[in-house]
Amino acid sequence: MDSKSIRENFLKFFKSKGHLRFASASLIPDDPTVLLTIAGMVPFKRYFLGETPPARRITTVQKCVRTPDIDRVGYTQRHLTFFEMLGNFSFGDYFKEEAITWSWEFITEILKFSKEKLWITVYKDDEVSHNIWEKEIGVPGDRIVSMGEEDNFWTMGPVGPCGPCSEIIFDLGPQFGYGKTTCKVGCDCDRYLEIWNLVFTEFNRDETGKLNPLPRKNIDTGMGLERVAFVLQKVNSVFEIDMFNPIIDYLEELAEKPYKESLEVTHSFNIIADHIRAITFLISDGALPSNEGRGYILRRIIRRAVRFGVKSGINTPFLYKIIPLVTFIMKDSYPELEKSEELAINITRKEEENFSMTLERGLARLENITSQESFIPGEEAFRLYDTYGFPLELTREIATERNVNIDEARFFEIMEESRKKTRESREKVSLMVGKESIKSKFIGYNTLEEDGEIVHILKDNNSAEELPRGEKGEIVTDITPFYPEGGGQLADRGIIQSENGKANILDVQKKGNAIYHFVEILEGKLSVGERVILRVDRDRRKALARAHTATHLLHATLREVLGDIVKQAGSLVERDQLRFDFTYFGEIDQDTINKVESIVNSHIRKDFSVKIKELPLEEALREGAIALFGEKYGENVRMVEIDPISKELCGGTHLNSTGEIGSFIIKGIYSIGTGVKRVEVLTGEKAIKEIQEERMIINEASGTLKAMPQDIVSSIQKREEEIDNLKKILQKDEDMLASLLAEKILDNRTVIDGINIVGLLLGDVSIEFLRLIGDKIKEKLSPSIIFLGAKDGEKLKFIIMTSKEVVSKGIKAGELMKNISKSFSGSGGGREELAQGGGKPIIPFEKGLEKLKELVESSLKN
Ligand code: ATP
Ligand code: MG
Repeated sequence: MDSKSIRENFLKFFKSKGHLRFASASLIPDDPTVLLTIAGMVPFKRYFLGETPPARRITTVQKCVRTPDIDRVGYTQRHLTFFEMLGNFSFGDYFKEEAITWSWEFITEILKFSKEKLWITVYKDDEVSHNIWEKEIGVPGDRIVSMGEEDNFWTMGPVGPCGPCSEIIFDLGPQFGYGKTTCKVGCDCDRYLEIWNLVFTEFNRDETGKLNPLPRKNIDTGMGLERVAFVLQKVNSVFEIDMFNPIIDYLEELAEKPYKESLEVTHSFNIIADHIRAITFLISDGALPSNEGRGYILRRIIRRAVRFGVKSGINTPFLYKIIPLVTFIMKDSYPELEKSEELAINITRKEEENFSMTLERGLARLENITSQESFIPGEEAFRLYDTYGFPLELTREIATERNVNIDEARFFEIMEESRKKTRESREKVSLMVGKESIKSKFIGYNTLEEDGEIVHILKDNNSAEELPRGEKGEIVTDITPFYPEGGGQLADRGIIQSENGKANILDVQKKGNAIYHFVEILEGKLSVGERVILRVDRDRRKALARAHTATHLLHATLREVLGDIVKQAGSLVERDQLRFDFTYFGEIDQDTINKVESIVNSHIRKDFSVKIKELPLEEALREGAIALFGEKYGENVRMVEIDPISKELCGGTHLNSTGEIGSFIIKGIYSIGTGVKRVEVLTGEKAIKEIQEERMIINEASGTLKAMPQDIVSSIQKREEEIDNLKKILQKDEDMLASLLAEKILDNRTVIDGINIVGLLLGDVSIEFLRLIGDKIKEKLSPSIIFLGAKDGEKLKFIIMTSKEVVSKGIKAGELMKNISKSFSGSGGGREELAQGGGKPIIPFEKGLEKLKELVESSLKN
């Protein structure tokens, strides 16, 4: 059974027993009191302390790193620093009975371990478990061993949840006792291999040391995946299981010697194979080598591995080369490894290179001391630590090999003194650091992920020591892969992360000699002096590079098509989108635009490579590179060459070859001032999107017009003609109708003082039509006052028209309208001969007409 099947079978088994399957948590717990995830239960600590879990039964395969075992790793057959723990958990749900029964069922029925080789340990006072194993499971009494508090009683601390454990042990056979005949369960050799530990958390220990029963009892079990594979695959140690085979093979290649050449080689390979897994996983989860905390653990592991590399005859940095192999072996179960691979390689290589430089000299020094004395003074141990980068543990390990002692007390004394000194001097330096002296280095042309150190933080433009969660501010690191906005190209975005916090980088700007990352803290906090990982958003960087390389092709092509008169006047490089301004006086027609677009696209298809060169300015200009007018260049310049199309001095980030641009379309060229034109271009994905959108519009138009796309224009022209004709017919008809209606009204006129007053209410017609009728009436009837309405449901539009003679008598349409609309309907107003109103009428139209007549009468009297 390979490791992958063991994982899957385990999770499947416990799923069938009602457990919720959880993914492995990070090796770096989000609990600040715990340094590393050392067991499957670590991510669930808060549920053991009473918080409500998402499910009462959970099962996981948890990645773990343990350093207390580190000195034994490689020498015993069973200890690793990095290993995977298979676990099932019950939070106040099932207890001993089920936990024991299921573990036995899984071990004997799924894994098919032979029962005769299995031993059980129980806690001496735990009769319940003893009985379950003996009476219910049927394990012979002589293979159930009672153990004391030290081995089989689990506690989280002096007070708090605790309880007895029970272990399942596999007897590997006398050959693993290494000749010892006294070997028995609980002894420290490899023969009786602990496979699975079942922890029954049933008590809460109070301050007086009394064990009080917990109201909710928990189960926490842990089984080492590598140990299970060791037994199932019938090999000699955890280092010979499937997951390690390719790594050991590769080490044989690197060291040019077989794994079993000598015990020393075997041990060294074991150590390296184990450590490289821990290194890869720790960096992937966000650890960085440093002199404190997790960072120190990582550093120690790397340095220890390097030393065993040297011991096996590998004298150049090599660890980083194994990382892709670890990723390859583990990525199916831990897909996060692929994302962090490049970073892990970079960090490990740097750490190896730094240490390799001093390792040999340090070793020689140590050799010198140990060959003369049987004692390493504290001063020497500290010197090895401080100058040669030897973690104390490493010196200790070598000392043990040579059988000499170290004055560790003195070592720690000197360590403390030196810490105090650096603290003081750092405080002094931070007082002296003015903004001018802050520097950072851009290293992002070929790297998108790097680790650096925070050297400066600004919050609201003032220096700060740290930025907590939710805050915005600016961070400067000693080196950065983030491209600051410049040369028309927008800044990179991405993530900055330390062990203690994480922030989004929203913008990057260069100020003086430093590159400022504008951040918003997402988690934890970031502080000055901290190691951080800087991770550039790759998709964005790629899209910016597509637009930037396309800009160079466009520039060269414009010069080719329009002549050298074309001079760049400005540019803006966004994601898959660019704007290029240039000087040119003539008109640029569509044919020219098409031509430019076609040429650039043919350059893209030819997939020319983009070469970057650093050279003296003189030389670049001699080679014909285009420099920007007014730009200040240093002595050495960076030349971006797309052979044979373009050579430009440029600090931007580019593609490796033009083919990566994919597609290039010109959205338009227009004039933005005398003699200055602007081209707008889309590349890559955005170009395709634009074309698709345009096609959709055309398809929609074609569907609506019921015409093939190529007939859309003629179809519209035809329709316009039709509409014109229809309009003419309509006009004629309306004219006729208006005359008829006008004719009809004449019969219903009222004459007051020689003035003809007529009124008519129509259905839903336009104001224009009412006016047309009014005009017809005016032609026939004079002097006249005309009141016409058009009713659309509840609403009414109406007009009042007065002929010239009426106006000269002082009766004006606008005033009539103002007066009448008060009692008739909402609002209205107008000029002398024509007024217009509307709204919901209060009284019927006829009554309105009456009012109008009354108004006319009274105004004539006055
Ligand atoms: P041991 O006594 O063998 O060191 P342990 O008592 O430390 O084991 P637990 O803390 O109970 O082990 O962990 C549960 C299981 O995890 C163990 O039964 C074993 O299968 C596995 N395990 C523990 N430590 C290691 C290690 N260093 N390397 C590989 N597997 C381990
Ligand atoms: Mg242990």
